Amino acid sequence: AQLDTLDIVVLAALLLGTIAYFTKGTYWAVAKDPYAGSLANGSAGKATKSRNILEKMDETGKNCVVFYGSQTGTAEDYASRLAKEGSSRFGLKTMTADLEDYDYENLDTFPEDKVAMFVLATYGEGEPTDNAVEFYEFISSEDVSFSEGASAEDKPLSNLKYVTFGLGNNTYEHYNSMVRNVAKFLDRLGATRIGDAGEGDDGAGTMEEDFLAWKEPMWKALTESMGLEEREAVYEPVFEVTEREDMDAESDEVYLGEPNKNHLEGKQKGPFNAHNPYIAPIAESKELFTVKDRNCLHMEIDISGSNLSYTTGDHIAVWPTNAGKEVDRFLNILGLKEKRHTVIAIKGLDATAKLPFPSPTTYDAAVRYHMEICAPVSRQFVSQLAAFSPNDNIKAEMAKIGSDKDYFQDEVYSKNYNIAQLLEFLSQGQKWEKIPFSLFMEGLHKIQPRYYSISSSSLVQKDKISITAVVESIEIPGAPNVVKGVTTNYLLALKQKQHGDPHPDPHGLDYAITGPRNKYDGIHVPVHVRHSNFKLPSDPSKPIIMVGPGTGVAPFRGFVQERAEQAKNGENVGKTMLFFGCRKKAEDFIYEKEWEQYKQDMGDAFFIDVAFSREGAKKVYVQHRMKDFAKEINELLEQKAYFYVCGDAANMAREVNTVLAQIISEQRGVPESKGEEIVKAMRANNSYQEDVW
Ligand code: FAD
Repeated sequence: AQLDTLDIVVLAALLLGTIAYFTKGTYWAVAKDPYAGSLANGSAGKATKSRNILEKMDETGKNCVVFYGSQTGTAEDYASRLAKEGSSRFGLKTMTADLEDYDYENLDTFPEDKVAMFVLATYGEGEPTDNAVEFYEFISSEDVSFSEGASAEDKPLSNLKYVTFGLGNNTYEHYNSMVRNVAKFLDRLGATRIGDAGEGDDGAGTMEEDFLAWKEPMWKALTESMGLEEREAVYEPVFEVTEREDMDAESDEVYLGEPNKNHLEGKQKGPFNAHNPYIAPIAESKELFTVKDRNCLHMEIDISGSNLSYTTGDHIAVWPTNAGKEVDRFLNILGLKEKRHTVIAIKGLDATAKLPFPSPTTYDAAVRYHMEICAPVSRQFVSQLAAFSPNDNIKAEMAKIGSDKDYFQDEVYSKNYNIAQLLEFLSQGQKWEKIPFSLFMEGLHKIQPRYYSISSSSLVQKDKISITAVVESIEIPGAPNVVKGVTTNYLLALKQKQHGDPHPDPHGLDYAITGPRNKYDGIHVPVHVRHSNFKLPSDPSKPIIMVGPGTGVAPFRGFVQERAEQAKNGENVGKTMLFFGCRKKAEDFIYEKEWEQYKQDMGDAFFIDVAFSREGAKKVYVQHRMKDFAKEINELLEQKAYFYVCGDAANMAREVNTVLAQIISEQRGVPESKGEEIVKAMRANNSYQEDVW
């Protein structure tokens, strides 16, 4: 039989898939690493090819590798900071390494005179971050085997010295389980940990201080173990930034904010993913609140023709742009305002240095599109900047802020300053011209895409992704600065433009919403899709209970939309119970009309209860309302209902867990501890799912 075109396409895809599998994506390096092909990358691009970490360390003369398992960039940032500090204070030859870029079978030949550090975030329900999945599967495997054929009993890693720091959130049950498990597996294989296992807690908001408190004793232990000597730390740049007066910012090879080479060349090419966003049209946008002082956006993002797909419950990532007002402030205080459109070429000074954004570019584009300039300031970064203060008084003040935790808390953190606001305040406007730009590239995070729980059903609208986002505007009493969320205000500006405002300008922030070279004109936003495990039961007749106050209702709009469609199609749809919460019916009861429509489509199968927190004398939240429906909830659980929670991780999700355990205990007449066990078991078998942030 002859192969027709479709067969050939399928075979070709299978073949490519097989090659990708066996090469572990080595040939995909260019697609995966957006800057591998960029102009100034030089040797850094070539050197990233080998998946053999020992070979890489030998080639580049390193004796310390800092591996990171990072989802949102924080673990990666801490890894870079450890690498830098190891080098500048102790003369270690350091490099950072993305866990997904290497193989691990040869860790048994890791030499005694080197050290491996692991900076690992725990994601979701105690899972590894996406880039650490393969490593975790390898190291946790019962029959792990190494290149020299050794098995676990032979203690194959007895030469390996390691250091660990974990990034977790104590509001989750599996607090820092990734780093704890990895340490356990490394120990089982005979490796030796140096210093204490560090753990940072995002839930308590102490990540940075946990890190700072952990690292000093760790360095002490490491210096003893490796016979290192501390020296006066001097700033050693990782990148060289050269101003290219000979180049014109408008020339074709200069990145003006384009995320990678495809985008620079003007053709959007898939696959679209975390390294390569799709510039998606916003088909529709509207305001969901009826009050003037708060905003909640509903947007429809059109993904037709992009090859992007989603299923109900997935997340969409939005790639933000910094507000013009903050870009101006930043460039101004560094004395770079006049030079903002000067072309700069960036080169890694070390073969293992990974450029945080493509080069050549301009100061303006680097700051606007790639650097997280509005985030809270890091205390360690203040210490690093001190040496470059405009005068000695300011330098002393910077050093004090950097070294005194409580002073930092009072003078910086509690005032909500971002880095440029702090510099402006301390120098009273005097310019900070001595700070090398490379220090900001190393010390500030790479701007991160923000995730949104998709609020539509893929069954109903497979080519349009809905998002429901509340616009962040956080005012802390007594603090001089109102924090304006980067992404949500950018989206608000896009919405204003779509509704005819020629100069959209939420709060005077002035976003460059038409993007680099006007490539986002006509209301576009760069996005990618992230698949999640937050899913409806595949059988629509199964009952579900959903708890989602505020924007936590986002994925549940998708869930209910899907079930209403199934009901309209004559399918047997199980009880669909939703607990929503907001302040006041007349202000922020989002999708009120839609819920009524779903009720008509689904009849008694759909039930919604709303907790209004500011209508009565007492504040009422979703967890209180759940108690009023204890009997119904328990009955549904006995019919094997799936239970879902979405929204605020810090308080709401935890309280909902507690209340559910209480309901089970009261209704079934079992002790509270038994109720808690039942909820735990539900989590373990995936019938209790969380999508919290
Ligand atoms: P950012 O600029 O990132 O600021 C966020 C917060 O950081 C501020 O409110 C403030 O508390 C703090 N902050 C920032 N700068 C400073 C400073 N200088 N000093 C002190 N504090 C500061 N959100 C939704 O609205 N809807 C959703 O459906 C949704 N789904 C999500 C799903 C997932 C899986 C995750 C992880 C998050 C989700 N979020 C959702 C949250 C969303 O991703 C963003 O975090 C949120 O919109 C704020 O982004 P932003 O860029 O506007 O704010």
